[in-house]
Order: sequence, then structure tokens, then C-alpha cells
Amino acid sequence: MRSILLLLCIFWVSLASGLETVELGDLHKQYSLNDHVEYLIDQDGVYFVDQLMSESVNQDTSRWLTHNKETLSFGYSNAVHWLRFKLDNQTDDEISKLLEIEYPVLDDVQIFIYDENNALIEKKVLGDKVPFAEREIFHRNFLIPLTLASQQTQTWLLRVETSSSVQVPMTIWPERTFFIQDQSKIMSMGVYFGIMLIMTLYNLVVFFSVRENSYLYYVFYVASMALFLASLQGLSFQYIWPMATHWNDSAIVVMLSGVVCFASLFARDFLELRKSQRLLYHLFGIVVVFSLSIMIATNFIPYYVLIKTLIVLAFGVIFLVTYTGVLRWVQGFSAARLFTIAWSTMLMGGAILALNKFNFIPRNFITENAVQLGSAIEVILLSFALADRLNQEKRERYEVQLTLLQREHEVQEAQAESLRVERKANETLEEKVRERTNELEIVNKKLADLSTTDALTGVRNRRYFDHVLKRDFNRARREKEQLAILMLDIDHFKKVNDDYGHQVGDEALRRVAVVLTDVVHRTTDVLARYGGEEFAIILPNTDIEGAQLVAEEIRKRVAEERMSSVDEEFFVTVSIGVMGDEPCIKNNSADVWLREADSALYMAKASGRNKVVISPHCQTKNETT
Ligand code: GH3
Ligand code: MG
Ligand code: MG
Repeated sequence: MRSILLLLCIFWVSLASGLETVELGDLHKQYSLNDHVEYLIDQDGVYFVDQLMSESVNQDTSRWLTHNKETLSFGYSNAVHWLRFKLDNQTDDEISKLLEIEYPVLDDVQIFIYDENNALIEKKVLGDKVPFAEREIFHRNFLIPLTLASQQTQTWLLRVETSSSVQVPMTIWPERTFFIQDQSKIMSMGVYFGIMLIMTLYNLVVFFSVRENSYLYYVFYVASMALFLASLQGLSFQYIWPMATHWNDSAIVVMLSGVVCFASLFARDFLELRKSQRLLYHLFGIVVVFSLSIMIATNFIPYYVLIKTLIVLAFGVIFLVTYTGVLRWVQGFSAARLFTIAWSTMLMGGAILALNKFNFIPRNFITENAVQLGSAIEVILLSFALADRLNQEKRERYEVQLTLLQREHEVQEAQAESLRVERKANETLEEKVRERTNELEIVNKKLADLSTTDALTGVRNRRYFDHVLKRDFNRARREKEQLAILMLDIDHFKKVNDDYGHQVGDEALRRVAVVLTDVVHRTTDVLARYGGEEFAIILPNTDIEGAQLVAEEIRKRVAEERMSSVDEEFFVTVSIGVMGDEPCIKNNSADVWLREADSALYMAKASGRNKVVISPHCQTKNETT
């Protein structure tokens, strides 16, 4: 018993001499314990609290080190970290304060409180391996109420074991000051997570309406980022999964993997690397696969290995995304500008946090809030960037449509023009064809006329006469009309030729034709030169009396026509045979009638020439001289 007392006494002396005491006399002051703490790193976790006590008693304090840095931060470590500090109340009143450990992801923190007699007053077990409901004060950070009676001194021994970064930032607060100050922190967190929540929900809604993958990646990126930071600050443990103690460590890895994964997917999609930068596109693909593997690996690979790998990966991604953003910006991809600006705000925040976690820069207000501020600005700017890109795409689509419409219009105009030209060409062609056809018709008619005209006299020829006679004869028979045929022969014409020569004979023939044309003037009448000096005449719709009159008129007019040769004048006469009747009455043909007219002519010749003889087969048989 004596020896124990002695040991305790030595322990007390050693503590009293080696350890600086924090005097808590000022009621309104807050005390940062960082530079009042001694620590001992128990590499293999072999020490027990009693053992350390006895070492202290043996004055073996060589392993206890004083901490010189502003923040109690040891980086990632598997070792057990022992901390000790001493509190003192010199006043006459009892002091009640709060000890805050502002690092809520510590796994296991055991606190041993001793009085000045080195008797254990209390042992507390904290850490995120303890369900949230078991906390003394429900707060995202560890809050431990401490009470020192008047003139009391307490020694606090902390055993910290954690897979997270070993940081134990401790502050002793007057209760009132703490909660007043905490309000503004809660407020700023509320603003931050409010922004993140709104951005997540808003862009999720936008995603459902526009179905652009970028929006979905953005939503997951923002959500992962928010949950990662909420986990780091103990908020998700407080509000989202207060019972899931095992999940706490994994959550940070999973969420950070999500940040890396979706940031990569987002950048890859947003900056349109698939088309423009195949190498970077695949590089981002590898990052995505790698970060997803880390997410899965949380089940069987230690937390500190993964988190270290992840932070390195995150660093890589930050620079990769920055590089890609700048590259695309320089390449003239306009959406990359806002993206890069947004990203660089996050980059700065992330860099500051990482440097702190690796213990390069001390923990302070800026390190604690840099990521929030950076990411809030980033998230807002990225949302703008997304909207801007969507607008730009819409504009481009619109312009393309406009160009297409113009093209279409041009094509239509070209088609219309070609149609016009074609129509014009057709019209010209038709016009030409018509002209040619007309010309041809005229030529044909001329040819036809020529083939039916007698060359010497200009009246119709025998071919025409035969053709028309059949036609007119049949029509007269059909319509029960009268028809007359005159056969005419110039008397002694051989003699004219003999006396005056053939040329005078030809002229005489032409003169007779002129007289005949003059007398036979009805449009339906047909006059033709039937043979050498013979003419034939068809008089449709003419009875025998009428025919006789016409024949007489011809005979008279020819006889009166004065012919002339070189040196003398002479006259010619004609003999005419007439056949006429209603063809329907007689059961005969045009040939028969022609023969009848010819025999009447023969009779006229026989009876002395210069005569008109009516065929005896006509109903009216008159003979005149
Ligand atoms: P008729 O008829 O009174 O009995 O006596 P004709 O002298 O007229 O007798 P015929 O009919 O035998 O003679 C016809 C003559 O008409 C024969 C020919 O010299 C003449 N002739 C026939 N065709 C032409 C012709 O185209 N030109 C000329 N100049 N004479 C012709
Ligand atoms: Mg004759
Ligand atoms: Mg004759």
C-alpha cells in the first residue's frame, strides 16, 4: 500500500513537473489545447492505461513528446496515439465547460480523467464506432462536458485509435460561447448543404426533362461531394445514419470514390472528349473503373490504404480535369471556359484540404471550409455551364435547321427553275414541231395539189377527176340529188397543131381552160383536163336542164374566144356530151355515166361538131346547136 502511494506520488510529481497545466480560471475564455498536449505514439498498440501510469510514475517520460505544431495532427497511421494534458481550477468556484474534439471521424477515443490524487474520476468512450444516440451531447463533433471543482486539478489521458487521419483538434469552450459560435457554423453548413441539395434536385429534374447524361453525372457528382463533406463533418452520422457505425468509415471512401468517378464521367461527357480527345477519353474511363473498384474494395481492403490511394487519385483527377478543361478551352470549345473556371475554384479548395490531411499545412478555418466554398461556387458555375451548353447546342441545332431550310429552299427554287426551263424548252419544241408540221402540211398540200393538177392548164387532172367523180356520184345517190357530167373535146385540134405548131396549140388549150374555169364557177363544181384536148366537168346538185345551160354557155364562150398565133388569129370550137340525172333512180355507176357522156360527145362530133348533145339515157333529151 505504501509503495502504491509512493508510486502515485512520483507519478504526480512527474506529471506536475513535465506537463504544462491549463488554468481554466477565465470564465469567458476558450482554450485551444493543441499546444498544451503531450503525446505518445504506441506503434503496435501494446500499452494499457495502467502501464502508462506506472511508466509515468517511474518517471520514464522520454517517450512523451510535446507537440509544437498548431494542430494536433499526425496524418494517417495505424498506431495508437496517447495524449495527455492537465487542467486546473484556481478559482473558488466550480467550473463547467465543454471539451470539443472537432474531428468527428475518429474511430475510437477513450478518455481517462484523473483527479489530483491520480484517482480515476471517469472514463468516457467516444468515436464514430459508438452509435450516435449514446453521445452525451448530440452534436456532430465530440463534445465532452467537464467540471472542475474549486482548486481542483485534473489530468486527462486520451487513447486515440482510428483508421482515419489522426487529428485531434481540441478546444475547451465556455458552454455559452460554444453554442453561440456554433450557430454561425451550422448556418454556413446549412447554406452550403442547402445549395448542394437544391442543385442536386434541380438538375435531377432538368435531367428527367432533357435526358442529357451530363446532368445525371453532375447530379451524382454533387450528391457524392455533399455526402462526402457531410460525412467528414459528422453530419451524415448525426442526421442520416446515426446507427450505422460500421458504415461510417466506408461512407467516406465510397463518397469520395463517387466524387472522383462522377467528376470524371461528367468532365468526359461535358467536354465531349469521345469525339475530340480519344486518349483523354480513355484515361477518364480508366479513372472511373479504378474509382469504382475502390468503392467495392471498401469491404476487404483497410480504410487508410484506400483513402490514401483515393486522395492521390483525386489529386490526379483534379489536374487531369483542369488540363483537359484548359485544352478544350484553347481548342475553342466554348463551353469549356465556364467549366474550367468552375473547376478551378474546386481545385483550390480540394488542394487546400488535401494538403491539410497530409499534414503539410495546419488545420484552420480556411482548410476546414475551403472545399465547401470552392465546391459551392463550382457547383453553381457548373450548373450555369450545363445550361449554357444546352443553350448553345440548341442554338447550333437551330442554326443547322435554318441552314437546312435554306438549302431546301434553294433546292426547291432550283427545281422550280429547272422545271421552268424544261417547260420553256418543251414549249419551244412544241412550237417548232407545230411550225414544222404546218410547213409540212403546206408542202404536203402543195404536193397533193401538184399531183392532182394538170401542169399545162392549171386545172385538175384526170386522176383527181376519177376520184372525185366516184365520191360525188355516191353522195348524190345517197342524198337523192341530181348530178351532171360534161365531156368536152376541142374540135379538129390536130389541125391547130398542124397549122400553128404545138406551142400555139398549148396556148389554145390554156385559153380554153381559162374560159371553162370562168363558166364553171360553183365551188362544188369540178373541172379537169381529161386527156390531150379533152376536158371533163362534174356539176353536183345540177339537173339536166342546168347542165345543158352550162354546156351551151361553154360552147358559146369558147367559140367566141379569139386565139392568136404569130401572124394570124383563129377560133376553136368544142363538142360537149352531157349525162345527168338522179343516180339513185338508175341502178348504175359512175363509169357507166362517164361512158354515156362520152358517147353523147361522140354523137356531137358525129352530128357536125360545135354541139352539145344530151345523152339519150337522160330523162330530158335535148339537142342544141
Ligand atoms: P376531132 O376531135 O374534131 O375529130 O378532130 P381532132 O383533130 O381534134 O381529132 P383527134 O382527137 O384525133 O386529135 C387530137 C389532137 O389534139 C392530137 C394532137 O395533135 C392534139 N393534141 C392532143 N394533146 C395536145 C396537147 O397537149 N397540145 C397540143 N398542142 N396538141 C395536143
Ligand atoms: Mg380528141
Ligand atoms: Mg378533137
